[in-house]
Amino acid sequence: MEQVKFQKVELKPEDKRLQENLARIKNKVIILSGKGGVGKSTVSTNVARGLVAKGKKVGILDVDIHGPSIAKMLGIEGRTLMLMQGEEFPMPVKVEENLWALTIAILLKDQDEPIIWRGPLKIGAIKQFLQDIKWPELDYLIIDSPPGTGDEPLTVAQTMKVNGSIIVSTPQDIALLDARKTINFSTKMNIPVIGLVENMSTFICPHCGHEIDIFKGMGVQKAAEDFNLDILGKIPLDPKIVQSGDKGVSIFSSEFQDSVIRKEYEKIAEKVIAKLG
Ligand code: ADP
Repeated sequence: MEQVKFQKVELKPEDKRLQENLARIKNKVIILSGKGGVGKSTVSTNVARGLVAKGKKVGILDVDIHGPSIAKMLGIEGRTLMLMQGEEFPMPVKVEENLWALTIAILLKDQDEPIIWRGPLKIGAIKQFLQDIKWPELDYLIIDSPPGTGDEPLTVAQTMKVNGSIIVSTPQDIALLDARKTINFSTKMNIPVIGLVENMSTFICPHCGHEIDIFKGMGVQKAAEDFNLDILGKIPLDPKIVQSGDKGVSIFSSEFQDSVIRKEYEKIAEKVIAKLG
């Protein structure tokens, strides 16, 4: 019987670069939500900062092409990509020691200009973020995706082996309807769900410290039980979060020293490290 000969397939240079980049990143974590406005980008930013506070090297990749908010939340608006001497491709933006970020927002001349792209263009841009950028060695890459289960998270799942997902939801039952779909999306894509984050859980009165259960939903708890998942943290509704996001100041800075939120994010970062290593 004649022996079958396999031809060695040469990788295209851009695919080789993609693989080299991915090999430099130990853990890839995607942040998902069923609905917009539930705080997914806020959670992405603060989980990343929480991991940095634990001494990890972290990157944030914003694949929310139509509504990128990471640049503002990280205070890197107006920054550009830097090409290091002797390098062919630029590095992502260095936000602070051990934290890098890449978002389409820093490539736009006018922040008010909408991106009117269909699927193939978005898929191409996401791939370029990993092919034509020189990512440094990272312990974690946090990927902030747009709400839902469309082209962007699908492209991420098909381009790399994602180690885990974090699903963000507010407690209302209506938000949970979509969050449950997102949990199933993650499982179908072979991405283990690290856990759920309940955002805007309760409101803590700044005057008397009384905790008010505004949404009164038990949806996140119920989803955690139904899918046998962990709730990584419950973040209260707090104007300080809005200030931190709008000013691009980290909740791990001295300004937010004693905030409940910061402690909650520290806990989430610890759980992510414990689960992924
Ligand atoms: P998404 O990425 O899901 O669209 P964002 O992270 O952009 O949501 O958050 C939407 C708005 O809600 C932002 O103005 C953000 O500052 C605010 N926000 C997020 N989480 C909280 C919270 N726990 N308390 C108060 N405001 C919050």
